[in-house]
Amino acid sequence: MRKVVECDVAVIGLGAAGITAALVAATHNLSTVILTRGYGATALSSGCLDVMGYLNNKMCSNPINCIKELVSSNGHHPYTITSKLGGGVTTAIRSALQFMLKFLDGLYIRPHNGDLQNLKVLTYYGSPRPTAYIQKSMRYASTDELTQFRNVVMVGIKNLGDVDPNLTATVAEKVLGLRITTTAIDLSLSTLQSQVVVSKLLSTNGKFKILLEQLMRVVRSYTADVILLPAILSSDPSEMNFQLMELEEKLKVPVSELPSPPPSVPGLRLMNKLLSILRHLNIPIYFCSSTKATVTGNRCSEVRCTLGIGEDYEIIVRAKNYVLATGDILSGGIVDEGDLLCSHYVEPVLGLRVHVPSNIYMCRGSSLFDPESCPLSEIGVEFDEYLRPYSSSGSVLENVYVAGSILSKYNYVTERSGLGVAIVTGYYAGLQASRV
Ligand SMILES: Cc1cc2nc3c(=O)[nH]c(=O)nc-3n(C[C@H](O)[C@H](O)[C@H](O)COP(=O)(O)OP(=O)(O)OC[C@H]3O[C@@H](n4cnc5c(N)ncnc54)[C@H](O)[C@@H]3O)c2cc1C
Repeated sequence: MRKVVECDVAVIGLGAAGITAALVAATHNLSTVILTRGYGATALSSGCLDVMGYLNNKMCSNPINCIKELVSSNGHHPYTITSKLGGGVTTAIRSALQFMLKFLDGLYIRPHNGDLQNLKVLTYYGSPRPTAYIQKSMRYASTDELTQFRNVVMVGIKNLGDVDPNLTATVAEKVLGLRITTTAIDLSLSTLQSQVVVSKLLSTNGKFKILLEQLMRVVRSYTADVILLPAILSSDPSEMNFQLMELEEKLKVPVSELPSPPPSVPGLRLMNKLLSILRHLNIPIYFCSSTKATVTGNRCSEVRCTLGIGEDYEIIVRAKNYVLATGDILSGGIVDEGDLLCSHYVEPVLGLRVHVPSNIYMCRGSSLFDPESCPLSEIGVEFDEYLRPYSSSGSVLENVYVAGSILSKYNYVTERSGLGVAIVTGYYAGLQASRV
C-alpha cells in the first residue's frame, strides 16, 4: 500500500534538532510532518541542556562569551554559521534557545534576569558539570546552591544499581571541597534495578509513599538541610512537579535530583515533554524502517518511508522543503559501510558529502573511547552558510537544510554543546525551511 503526503516542510529525525525545526515550521502555520526511525539521543542524555561547557579544554562560565571566542577563530562551527544567520552570537543563540524554552516552561529553570551563565552541576561522579539549563527537579544540584547549606544529605537506595552516593560524596569532597553526608533507604527492591525502573515503580506501585516515609526519617535523623536524590522522580513532567511539591511540603526541606547516567529519567522526561508538544500541535510522526530520498537536479523531490519491517506499506512525502536531522553515527545519521580494514562513512538518506576528520583513522583500541584522539562525533555532513548540505557531486541541495549532530566540524563530547547545538541549528534550519 502506498500513501502520498504533500506538505510544506518534512523533517527527518525525531531528536532535539528535528523537533525544534518542526516546531519552528508548525508555528509558521506550515503543514509539517516528521519521518523518523527512532527517538534519538534525547532520552539518553542527562536532561541537562548543555550550550557550551568547554572551549579549548577550559570550562566556560558564560556560554555566550565562549561561543563569541569560538566564532572568532572557527569559521566552520555550526554556532558560527547560525550566528551569522541570526544577526550575531548573542541574538542568534538567545533567540533559538528562548524559542525552545518557551515550550519547555515548567520543566526547566530559566536563568535569573535572562542572563545565560553555566551552572556547575554536581554529577553522580562527584565532579562538576558545566551546563546552561537544568530541570526544576535539579534546582539545588549546582555547586553554588549546595555550598549554602550546612548539612547536605545524599540518599542512596538499596538495590539501585546506577548511583553510588559514597563515590559521589568522596569525589565531591576532593574535587569541590563539598561536605556531603550519605545514607541509604530501602524501597524493598528485591533485585538490582535501574533509575528508570525505580521511577516507574514510584509512579505505579505505591512506592512513592514508602519513599516519603523513609525520607522523613532521614531528615529527622540527620537534621538535613537539603536532600539529594538519584534522578528517580516521574518521567512525566507534570507528575514530577507534583511529586516534588509533595516531598518538599511534607519534608520541609528542599529536595533535588542529581543528573544521572544514561538511560536517564530526566532525559526521558525531556523526550516525553517534546512528544506532548508535537501531539498538541498535531504534527504527524511516521516511524520508518527505511527512509530514502529522491534527488532531482539540485532539489529533493520526495522521501519514501517504509513503515514496519517487511511490510509493504510506504509513505511518500513530497514537501517544498526538507530538514535532515538524523543525528551522528550513534543514531544512524552517518553509517560506516566499510569493512574490517577500512571505514567508509556515508549519509544514507540523501547520499550527502561526508566530512571525516583526518585523525579518525587513528581510532583503535582504547583511543576509540577518547573523543579527542578519536573524534567520531565530528564525522558529519558538510554544509554551506545557509545550513544547506552538499550532494556527493559537490553541489548544494537547494531545498534541504541540515541540523544537529549530523553536522560535521564540531565535537559535542569535548565541548559539551550537544543539545544546545541541536536546538540552535534546528531553529535556524527550521526558519530557512519555513521560507516556502
Ligand atoms: C549518552 C549520551 C548522553 C548525552 N548527554 C547529554 C547531555 O546531558 N546534555 C546535552 O546537552 N547533550 C547530551 N548529549 C548529546 C545530545 O544528546 C545530542 O548531541 C543531541 O541530542 C543530538 O540531537 P539530534 O537531534 O541532532 O540527533 P539525535 O537525537 O540522535 O536524533 C536523530 C534522529 O534521527 C533518526 N534517524 C536516524 N537515521 C534515520 C533515518 N535513516 N531515517 C529516519 N530517521 C533517522 C533517529 O531515530 C533520531 O530520531 C548526549 C549524547 C549521548 C549519546
